[in-house]
Amino acid sequence: MNALFAIVAFVAAAAATDKSPESPSSVPSGTWPDGKKAAFYLSFDDGCPTQPKNVFPLLEKYRIPGTFYVCPGWDLFKKYEAAWSNANEYVFLGNHTMTHGKIPDKAALDKELAGCNAAIARLRPNQKGPISFAIPSAESMHNVLEITDEEIAETYKRHNLVERWLWHGYPVQCKTIPEMEAYVDKVIESGGVGHMDFHGVGGDWLDPGLEYFEALMKKLDSRRGELWFATHIQIYERLKSRK
Ligand SMILES: [Zn+2]
Repeated sequence: MNALFAIVAFVAAAAATDKSPESPSSVPSGTWPDGKKAAFYLSFDDGCPTQPKNVFPLLEKYRIPGTFYVCPGWDLFKKYEAAWSNANEYVFLGNHTMTHGKIPDKAALDKELAGCNAAIARLRPNQKGPISFAIPSAESMHNVLEITDEEIAETYKRHNLVERWLWHGYPVQCKTIPEMEAYVDKVIESGGVGHMDFHGVGGDWLDPGLEYFEALMKKLDSRRGELWFATHIQIYERLKSRK
């Protein structure tokens, strides 16, 4: 993907109406396991090559899981496929459609979702259960397709997908390290679900820099007694089971 195109498309999409709900900012006390005060997840879009290179080792070092929304139809993904299939146990894959492209109709949507699910099953056969789904924001299907909310819900169910909460991260929110650190503190205070969502880390597009990402890992580590580090799906299932 052309980096400049990605940035322009992403910022334009972020400005457009996105129907994805925000993550829960408060939940009943006692919701999280081991008496943790809040839940936190990390997610990474587009399968940027700097993710296997820079992020995988840090997730393992700090024992924090991450969900990576991949587009297996991209040449850029295929080139690094071995790194994705051999990833450590903190790496979970999510569906970001096959091509991140424009989706003209519902048949094309099914094809994009099913293809990505099949690639995830092939690359990570031990990853079971529902698959987290991130709408490719540049061509959000809410805006492109003539599709009702009911049809979207039915489509997710058919493909065993759970839509990720509204994207949150650099460069839209938490533009600096102190802002990011204050956000982590705020999440713990709120008791709800916090998350930081990335694209490139230490290169590629929309990159806050490796120093920023390492500062986040250190910040999370410093408050790990209060935070439940889980994947989006684990948090979703926890909330569902407590209802
Ligand atoms: Zn994307």
